[in-house]
Formats: sequence, structure tokens, C-alpha cells
Amino acid sequence: MPIKALGFDIDHTLGIDNKLERVAFLRLLETICAEGGTCLRTLAQESNRIDDLLERQRCGAFSIDQAVERFASERGAQPPAGYVERYKRMALESVPEFFVAQPDARAVLRELRQRGIACAILSNGWSPLQQEKARQLDFAGPVLVSDAIGAQKPQAEAFAALAVALKTDSRNIAYVGDNPRGDIAAALAAGMRGIWLDAEGVTYAPELPQPSAVIHRLAELLTLL
Ligand SMILES: [Mg+2]
Repeated sequence: MPIKALGFDIDHTLGIDNKLERVAFLRLLETICAEGGTCLRTLAQESNRIDDLLERQRCGAFSIDQAVERFASERGAQPPAGYVERYKRMALESVPEFFVAQPDARAVLRELRQRGIACAILSNGWSPLQQEKARQLDFAGPVLVSDAIGAQKPQAEAFAALAVALKTDSRNIAYVGDNPRGDIAAALAAGMRGIWLDAEGVTYAPELPQPSAVIHRLAELLTLL
């Protein structure tokens, strides 16, 4: 069956954000400390702590608002909720500087548009951060972000929402991502094809179902269609 539509992951697939959320948290820590709060550990240890917090947040353990509030209140910020908007604004404002598109991403997306292949993004994360990354890519299609759709990869509901956004049956869709489990195995389980972007030396766990195709650069997608 031919591929009629494509779904894309963002981070480490269409581009990289150079840990902009970690930096925003560290800036927030600076502000909290300047306003009477306390740094609990060395800066390097705080940085590791932030990475851990963000990792759990991306896995759906809690929302970004809760992550910021927890972080702020642990460090004595009052009221902790006041820091959520500041964190989000810092993260959003840093997207143009920190987010770097894959060298061929914009050209590939343009070519897909010209060929009439429907494209949508399905990304785990928070709104409007992921939408801002998509905007940096000049992405024209729907952008589905886990916090907004109430489902996240690898859940089947997230891929079902993608099929609805692309207005076609899952069997006609190929999902492109860098994460073997969260992107590829999950897309295959949802009845889509899974195209693995193998560009960062990640090991594809042998127990997972094999990807439908493997590419090393986004431009290789054009030869698969
Ligand atoms: Mg990714």
C-alpha cells in the first residue's frame, strides 16, 4: 500500500533544541535564588536533577506546570506557581536561538508539500513550545502535542489522533522518528509504518519489531514515496 501521508516526531527528528528546557530551568533557578530561594546542590547536580525532572515530565508523570511548581517550591519560592509563566516564557523565547532544524528538513517538507503528501507532527511535550519549534521549521500541517491531545506516544490514542489529523487510514501513514520504542514500535502497533531516522548512533533494541524502513537523512524519505 502506498504511503499517502506522513507523521513526524520533532525532537532529534526534524531538529534539535539543544537542551533549551534545561537552560530555562537553570535561569529560573537563578531567579528563584535572587528572590530569596535556595539552590539545593551544586549547579552541576541541579542540572542533572532538572534533566531527570524533564525526562519524567516527558514520560507523562506530571505536567510541565507541576514540574515547575515542584521545582520552585522545593527551593523555597513563594508562591511557586508564580514561576510557571516565567519558565514558559523563557523556554519559548529561546526557541529561535536554540532550536536548529536538520539541514535538509525545510527542503524535504517543502518537497512533500509540492508532491501533495499530507504531513503532520505528533510530539510529546507541552504547548505552545512544540508548536513554536514547528513554526521555526515553516511547518504547514497540523501539530499535535501530547498535552493538548491528552495522549502521548507510545499510546495508541496519540497515533489515532494523528490519523484523524491526516484524514486517512492508519495503513496509509508512515511515522518518522528517532526513538525505536516510542516512535517506531508504537507507530507499528498502531497499524502505521514506522520509518526510523538512524542519525545519532542509537541502538535499535532487537526485541522490538523491525522498522518498515531505515533512513540516515530526512532527504532519503523522498526516495521511499
Ligand atoms: Mg524524538
